[in-house]
Amino acid sequence: MLRIGLGEDSHRTQPGGPLRIGGVNVPHDHSLVGHSDADVLLHAVTDALLGAAGLTDIGRLFPNTDPANRGRDSADFLRLAYAQVQAAGFELVNLDCVVAAERPRLAPHNDVIRQRIAEILGVSPTQIGLKAKTGEGVGPVGRGESIEARCVALVTKGQ
Ligand code: MG
Repeated sequence: MLRIGLGEDSHRTQPGGPLRIGGVNVPHDHSLVGHSDADVLLHAVTDALLGAAGLTDIGRLFPNTDPANRGRDSADFLRLAYAQVQAAGFELVNLDCVVAAERPRLAPHNDVIRQRIAEILGVSPTQIGLKAKTGEGVGPVGRGESIEARCVALVTKGQ
C-alpha cells in the first residue's frame, strides 16, 4: 500500500544568523522566529510524513505551549515522528521538498541538507528531493520577511 502526505510551513525572519534549515546551520545574516529552532523545512517534512501515515500533526505532537519544546532541535521532532510512522507499519519511499527563500541562495547547501535529512531518517539521500526557489521579489517571501517550505512524502506499507 502506498500513501502520500503533504506538509507546509512558514516562519518569519529576524536579524541575526545562522539560518537553521533542514537540520543544517546555513551561514546568513537572518534566522527564523519560532518556539523551537524554527526549522521550517524539517517542520514541513515532519507533517508530510505524519500525514502520509494518517497520524496527527506536528503542532499536536509537539505543542509550542510545552516548555520542553523551546529552542528544541527540530531533528528530534522529525526522528520521533518518523518512529511513529514506522510503528504504524510504514516506511519512507521518498520525499520531495521545496524551500522558498529570497535569501540566502540555498542551492549550494542542497546536498548537505539532503544528506542531513537522510541521516535523521536513516534513509538514503537518493530518497530526498530538495529544490530551492525565491519569491521573485513579491510577497512576504520575496520581501525577505518569511521563508516557506513544502514537502510531499510517499510511504509504503508491506502486506
Ligand atoms: Mg514551524
